[in-house]
Amino acid sequence: MSLSPIIPYGRQSIDETDIQSVIETLTSDFLTQGPKVAEFEENFAEYVGSKYAVAVSNATAGLHLAVLAMGLKPGDRVITTPITFAATANCVRYAQGEVWFADIDPETYLISFEKTKELIESKSKGFFKGIIPVDFAGLPINLEKFRRLAKEHGLWIIEDACHAPGGFFTDSNGEKQFCGNGNYADIGVFSFHPVKHIACGEGGMLTTNDEKLYNRLLLLRTHGITKDGMEENHGGWYYEMQELGFNYRLTDIQSALGITQLVKNNEGVLRRNEIAERYKTAFKGKLKYQALPDESWNAHHLFVVEVENRKGLYDFLKENNIFAQIHYIPVHTLPYYKRIGYDNADLNNALRYYSKCISLPMYPSLKDNEQNFVIEKMLEFNE
Ligand SMILES: *Cc1c(COP(=O)(O)O)cnc(C)c1O
Repeated sequence: MSLSPIIPYGRQSIDETDIQSVIETLTSDFLTQGPKVAEFEENFAEYVGSKYAVAVSNATAGLHLAVLAMGLKPGDRVITTPITFAATANCVRYAQGEVWFADIDPETYLISFEKTKELIESKSKGFFKGIIPVDFAGLPINLEKFRRLAKEHGLWIIEDACHAPGGFFTDSNGEKQFCGNGNYADIGVFSFHPVKHIACGEGGMLTTNDEKLYNRLLLLRTHGITKDGMEENHGGWYYEMQELGFNYRLTDIQSALGITQLVKNNEGVLRRNEIAERYKTAFKGKLKYQALPDESWNAHHLFVVEVENRKGLYDFLKENNIFAQIHYIPVHTLPYYKRIGYDNADLNNALRYYSKCISLPMYPSLKDNEQNFVIEKMLEFNE
């Protein structure tokens, strides 16, 4: 019996141009803080349509800087979704804030607008400081609606767009709003972990249209240190540490990879949507999958379906060398969040979703015959 090679749920695509780009940087004068970082930032801002972009060492660091830039103080309360990677919530805890969860929509799996509104309106004005919605699985949040709500209540919005470079929704003016373009959210956050669309090994990007936020992010990324405009008065060596910042920088080596990866993103998103369509055709009327609102273009980091016997299916697929994954264990049920008292919220849609969800292989280099094999095994198990 010949075992088929492992089919993971996600993987990077590295080609010769990526390899050459990294090699060129390795033999250049700069391994970090050189021209590649700035070039990557410029290209990325242009790609998503934001004014500014700040490259960071990973999206978790980016989320941390984002909440600090928004001015999060100890005790401040922030709303997010329970169906996300823990880092979305953890950034609030890094700054000693409180995380509050609003339930998901059972069809789109995104944080529910209605539940978020209910939660905000159940408290007095000023109770919450911000919202961190997530473009879960690559499906863009309709941020126009969230912005209206946030404005009414004086909240900021950080868009966790880690799943969604290249995704967009069409707003009420008929304009395409690309994830992280900064038109409705204050800051967008992206990840370049190899399992996401764009691989840098580790890496992340923050996007914004607000010059003040941009400058604050730059400062916090590099220890809170700046030399801007100081040379004339003090000498070339002089710098000031104006705040307690971090070293959350991306290297030129990683940026060189990011630059060539970014060029291929649209093609990758198209291929991801092709794969999604093939899954949908095969599962229509048999299995429930993530809904696609009319106004949305899903960047498809993931393809999630709901099944009754999830553990059985997960093991069965694994026996067939298909390594599916579960996204995500609801954050409020993780031991840390339970221990600090978050496991009391009414998040029934998230719990129901978690009991059934499974993410199937979804990446541009997935071959049709590999996908056919996945579909065949899925239908065989769920017959
Ligand atoms: C991957 C991910 C992160 C964290 O990204 P890193 O670059 O690994 O730190 C944050 N939020 C979401 C939704 C993610 O999927």
